[in-house]
Amino acid sequence: MPATMTSRLTEKLGIQLPSAEQKLILNWKNDHAVSVWIKRDDLIHPIISGNKWRKLSKTLLSSAQSPPANIISFGGGHSNHLHALGFCCHKLEIPLVAIIRGDYSQHMTPMLNDLKRWGATIEWVNKVTYAQRTEASYLEHLKGRHPNSLIIPEGGSHFEALDGVASIVTELTQEYDVIIAPVASGGTLAGLIQGVQNKPSKVLGIGVLKGHDYLYQLVNQFLPKQGKQQPSEQAAWQINSDFHFGGYAKTTPELVTFCEQFEQDTHIALEPIYSGKLFWGLRHLIENNHFPQGSKILALHTGGLQGKRGQQPAKTIRKQDAMD
Ligand SMILES: *Cc1c(COP(=O)(O)O)cnc(C)c1O
Repeated sequence: MPATMTSRLTEKLGIQLPSAEQKLILNWKNDHAVSVWIKRDDLIHPIISGNKWRKLSKTLLSSAQSPPANIISFGGGHSNHLHALGFCCHKLEIPLVAIIRGDYSQHMTPMLNDLKRWGATIEWVNKVTYAQRTEASYLEHLKGRHPNSLIIPEGGSHFEALDGVASIVTELTQEYDVIIAPVASGGTLAGLIQGVQNKPSKVLGIGVLKGHDYLYQLVNQFLPKQGKQQPSEQAAWQINSDFHFGGYAKTTPELVTFCEQFEQDTHIALEPIYSGKLFWGLRHLIENNHFPQGSKILALHTGGLQGKRGQQPAKTIRKQDAMD
């Protein structure tokens, strides 16, 4: 894709790239043994969540060139993915059909109100129908009802998402021993793994939901055969599942306090669903001398801060939103 088309699209949407890469001054035990940097994808855009843009960029670029009749995608009532996509479709004047798990018509979330305001067509479906969202027959049925549409899977995690995520690595101004990022539906980690191909950097994912083997499966499905890893291996990439706090969007007062303290110390905001668990895990690993002496670590801040608004009680967000 020509660079000018990319920059025309990012300009139209107000996307600011490359994102900043900053050294973090932390006051954690044993932090003198390593250096920690942060890639600020939370600053890419005030509305579009950082990693959601990375995952959507390639698909949206081709859609901007030859617009489909509709874009169809899926998510829960708090989906960062649908929120990012809804905003982009609005700006690009591509009609969006959002298939929502559950009927929120009587208790709209801030995210759903935004989708409505941006002109999306919202379809409420029950759990049983939603469970068919990857089945060919259901997708055919959707395409029949909305001819010439483009379907983007839940969370925007599909093979096409990887190049956009890999561009994070291309932007880096120096090399790192480890790149660390949260994992939910796996597209972000898979893109980072693709990005560090032929580089010495390792990729470490922090699972934000339960199911260690399940998360490996999610990431592996996007990777070529030689890139796949099994949970037991000491390999180029790994997932740590020690910091999910009991499941997707589950939290504790300690985690919430940690996020607040981190913001006070660094002036960088975290939320407890993704980035809070990432940095909590990173602190724990550093304190326990997990990384070799002298390691240079890059933490990817994936954004998602608009999800903090409206004081949504996190426990009402269900595990399926992990795919968002
Ligand atoms: C969706 C999301 C993630 C998870 O990314 P996956 O590609 O689904 O693993 C991480 N951080 C934020 C802020 C997100 O919105």
